[in-house]
Amino acid sequence: MTPEEFRAAGHRLIDWIADYRATLANDPVMAQTPPGAVKAKLPTAPPDSPEPIDAILHDLDTIIRPGLTLWQHPRFFGFFPSNALLASVLGDLTSTGLGVLGLNGQASPALTELEEVTTDWMRQMFGLSPAWSGVIQDTASTSSLIALICARERTTNYALARGGLQSEDAPLIIYTSTQSHSSVEKAALLAGFGREHVRQVPHDASFAMRADALAAMVAEDAARGRRPCAVVATCGTTSSTALDPIEAIARVADAHGLWLHVDAAMAGSAMILPECRWMWDGVERADSLIVNPHKWLGVAFDCTLYYVRDPEHLVRVMSTNPSYLRTAVDAQVRTYRDWGIPLGRRFRALKLWFLVREQGIEGLQRRLRRDLENAAWLAEEVARTPDWRVVAPVPLQTVCVRHEPAGLAGDDLDRHTQAWAARLNQSGAAYVTPAVLDGRWMVRVSIGAEATERADVTRLWQLMQDQARAL
Ligand SMILES: *Cc1c(COP(=O)(O)O)cnc(C)c1O
Repeated sequence: MTPEEFRAAGHRLIDWIADYRATLANDPVMAQTPPGAVKAKLPTAPPDSPEPIDAILHDLDTIIRPGLTLWQHPRFFGFFPSNALLASVLGDLTSTGLGVLGLNGQASPALTELEEVTTDWMRQMFGLSPAWSGVIQDTASTSSLIALICARERTTNYALARGGLQSEDAPLIIYTSTQSHSSVEKAALLAGFGREHVRQVPHDASFAMRADALAAMVAEDAARGRRPCAVVATCGTTSSTALDPIEAIARVADAHGLWLHVDAAMAGSAMILPECRWMWDGVERADSLIVNPHKWLGVAFDCTLYYVRDPEHLVRVMSTNPSYLRTAVDAQVRTYRDWGIPLGRRFRALKLWFLVREQGIEGLQRRLRRDLENAAWLAEEVARTPDWRVVAPVPLQTVCVRHEPAGLAGDDLDRHTQAWAARLNQSGAAYVTPAVLDGRWMVRVSIGAEATERADVTRLWQLMQDQARAL
């Protein structure tokens, strides 16, 4: 494909994407394709001869598009908002089009330096002190793995340079709440701690970690000769956006020399609103912190911000520094390959930069405030309707609800909850995610797709009541 052929095909593809965005509200939110239907329409072997771009665009329309669950739909209330605002889509496209890699500063100076600048812009937007240094990783999962590896190496005084975890004589212990994201346990297992050494700290009535229980567990482990290593606090849990008390957890961490990692993957976006910053009081005492701008904030997936207070420690853990990657400018700019796991890096800062410039802080704040108001409105409607209940506090944009008709309890109630949620999702009119909270099924309504307005939330609430009543 020559640049001229690219220009022609590219204009058509941009038109295709613009049409898709402009019309997707008319389509079912959840893909209506049965499992295997997309595969059945695709050749099992790759083409021997070149195909025209027309053929590819045609299949985009007829095979790929019908096989999509529409995350950008105004009535997408599933999982979490994963907004891909169009300005950030252009930034992402630019990154791919430039075709450059950041292996070190010299390999692409602009890639490294824009990442330094945008991560610092975001730090300021979140109201964080200049003590934090940021890097862009692919996901929160990768970032939590890095955090726990850094914790491990601090507690063992760089065991990786000796016999590693295998030569330690006492086991290292990780603490997190029962409500933390599955990626935290996965990170602990992959970092070699072992399931036996991951403690699940109980939660209080609002599903937040109990700092008193944490303190007791840490003291008990220490008394038994184990080595408390790190605690992961969540700001905005996955089930119900619960807020772990970071300040109280930090006091326990300080007293026992624990690494404090704050997983604010979801709630972090809200910190661009000064009125929400109480939610992570104490965050300045953490060692590492993650926020996912690829969720509610609007950066096209994938883009996770990873902040640390001690970049030298991070680099000491992550760096291998072979001779062929060293250059004369290494001392003046960050060498981001030493701030994470992969060597090569995409120019991810571009999509963040495009988004923040095109929206301005005000534009981003306005949308998030709209979503918070919509969630508060829905929570009120549900709470004052007979047989309906809001089952968790609503500090952010997620409303956890249950329809509890008289006479239904236990497993019967669970079946009822899953049934009306499934009917709603299958209808294509809206999409929600059922989940288990404290052993019982409920339905999460996660508000915050870019296109979601009050009318969409009103419509959803009517649909929920219709589906639950029809059973
Ligand atoms: C979404 C989420 C994650 C996982 O995010 P990825 O970037 O997909 O790995 C982890 N923790 C919390 C609290 C989340 O909301």
